Amino acid sequence: MASVIPPPPQPSLPVLGTDAVFPVHRIYCVGRNYAAHAREMGSDPALEPPVFFTKPADAIVPVSGPEPAAIPYPPATENLHHEIELVVALGEGGRDIEADRANALIYGYAVGLDMTRRDLQNAAKAVGGPWDMAKAFDSSAPCSVITPAVAIGHPAAGVVRLSVNGTVRQQGDLADLIWSVPLVIAHLSRLVTLAPGDLIFTGTPEGVGPVVRGDRLDGEVAGVGALAITLV
Ligand code: MN
Repeated sequence: MASVIPPPPQPSLPVLGTDAVFPVHRIYCVGRNYAAHAREMGSDPALEPPVFFTKPADAIVPVSGPEPAAIPYPPATENLHHEIELVVALGEGGRDIEADRANALIYGYAVGLDMTRRDLQNAAKAVGGPWDMAKAFDSSAPCSVITPAVAIGHPAAGVVRLSVNGTVRQQGDLADLIWSVPLVIAHLSRLVTLAPGDLIFTGTPEGVGPVVRGDRLDGEVAGVGALAITLV
């Protein structure tokens, strides 16, 4: 069928070991999923259900290759923060998924940055307002290539690390996720019907902080991959 405007491009991510790409449908993100980060954000990590928010699919910026990708410093903030995260890429969807079969939905994993305009988030929190303009802005989700689960399995432990200009700022371990990946999928699938192409940013360990134009960020999740960006 003809479109009255040009159809928007389909956001996608490269996949390790193939020229085929992973088409991105939706981006779900988990807030406060490491206890130490929850505490540094002023929350009590105990007994809270997982907090979800979203980004538009075209917030994704594919980051591959040895050279750092140039990411634009966004407008309307003076306090842009890095959040390094394990990203889950769903190959299948469904609703009311039991945690013990959640891994079967997963196509693969990647390393992502949940870039955050912290000043706008703090202002939103102060008035109980939505986080969208703090989290869901253009180019707010740089993401590495996807590594298929058939190649690496389903990592439940491993270092999650982010360096800025060569200095380690964030370091955690997947084993310290409050809500494991299967539990995140179980919870989320009770709120929405998950679909192939959905990405889930699983939360960030402690050590978030500001970055400025010219900074180089290097992120990695052990056993999954790495990414490098420069803010311009
Ligand atoms: Mn995050």
